[in-house]
Amino acid sequence: RPEILVVGAGLAGSEAAWQLASRGYPVRLVEMRPRRMTAAHVTGHCAELVCSNSLGADALTSAGGILKAEMRRLGSLILSVADERRVPAGQALAVDREGFARAVTDRLASHPLIRMECDEIVELPRGPAIVATGPLTSGRLAEALKERAGGFLAFFDAVAPVVTVDSVDFSVAFRAGRYGRGDDYVNCPMDEEQYRAFHKALVEAEGAPRKDFERDMSYFEGCLPVEIIASRGPETLRFGPLKPVGLVDASRPDREFFAVVQLRQDNGEGTLFNLVGFQTNLRWGEQERVFRMIPGLERAEFVRFGVMHRNVYLCAPRVLDGALRLKGEEDLFLAGQIVGVEGYMESTAMGLVAALNVAARCEGRPFPLWPRETAIGSLLHYLVDALPATFQPMNVNLGIFPPLERKVRPKPERCRQVALRALEALGKGVRKEDLPENLR
Ligand code: FAD
Repeated sequence: RPEILVVGAGLAGSEAAWQLASRGYPVRLVEMRPRRMTAAHVTGHCAELVCSNSLGADALTSAGGILKAEMRRLGSLILSVADERRVPAGQALAVDREGFARAVTDRLASHPLIRMECDEIVELPRGPAIVATGPLTSGRLAEALKERAGGFLAFFDAVAPVVTVDSVDFSVAFRAGRYGRGDDYVNCPMDEEQYRAFHKALVEAEGAPRKDFERDMSYFEGCLPVEIIASRGPETLRFGPLKPVGLVDASRPDREFFAVVQLRQDNGEGTLFNLVGFQTNLRWGEQERVFRMIPGLERAEFVRFGVMHRNVYLCAPRVLDGALRLKGEEDLFLAGQIVGVEGYMESTAMGLVAALNVAARCEGRPFPLWPRETAIGSLLHYLVDALPATFQPMNVNLGIFPPLERKVRPKPERCRQVALRALEALGKGVRKEDLPENLR
């Protein structure tokens, strides 16, 4: 079997390398970190999570849960390690960030068919290869890809700050999950006066200067910086990341809140918590000043500040064929966020799909069929079907699945039915030869 080159050992590249090696292919996995870092990664580990430590909702009553169920059935490396390194986060699948990335790295490094190399690839490889260099693809490779494909877009995501839990004042803050679901979150409540003062400070705070090439880029609506949400009106935060509904302080159940900032566990030991929805582009000093106005965080110790980053992706409907190849290329596949999906699990799924396509091509078989009813099939459908002129990367969500034959309410029940249909379609639609031997 030919050796397959996988460029980038992020979420998609790690998944792709594992899937190929599980099918008996030797893999050369080339990652530039730690020799050359990106603006967001801080380690040399494979599959490092650059922002939230949550991989999103896990129940079948959410679109993210359906994608995870499919990936588990297909033997996903990333999900099996995530399940092992899970930390409490209500109904979401959150992981101990450091332990998760270490464990993925160990699994890849100890596979006899995977050869890991630390190098920056600066030209498009000839193939058979998968390029999975992500939203922070390094400059020269991005240029080469741009030249070959055209239609590149770039925009920004923003990273939320992280504080030590010991520095939170629990005479004000309290632990609870929304609607009585567990007590995984730390909640910092505000009365109206505190909220108004915080909002004013936030919209008046000084942002970090953007580099020239970033200036004209628009924000991705799903990951807006908190100060941009605030600037859209005095109540937007209260109906967004600071919504107080469903939160009760068990020790003082009669307390009422005007707004609540939530903090979610960020590491395995539970010593670090991130400010949920607080991705930001404020200057670091300003973050300290403004975020310390949040009740309970007056003395917060910030171990990481929020930052903003470039995000690179292809205009998929214009430049990719249905098999995640650049049109006209036989052996060069792309995977991960760069193909025009958005999110950790979505990127991982595209790594799995690309790997199966490479294996099919090498074996002279037709490419795997992904039933349209599945989350994976729906994401792939979006990539070929979306309008090129307005194309934006897509998260998995109910809107991209084909509608059910009849209207079902409420939404969680609708989602459950979409999930059952997806898993049945996956069972029927995926051919045995596309699965690794242990799952046939
Ligand atoms: P990555 O995981 O970034 O992997 C790409 C790898 O390729 C990296 O390891 C990189 O070092 C390497 N590489 C790049 N160029 C080269 C080269 N020339 N040669 C060799 N190696 C190279 N999604 C969420 O679901 N939740 C979030 O909270 C979230 N936050 C984000 C925050 C930021 C700042 C960014 C940029 C994105 C965020 N995303 C988030 C979106 C996305 O899900 C992640 O970026 C995800 O890691 C993408 O997976 P990937 O495998 O495509 O890329």
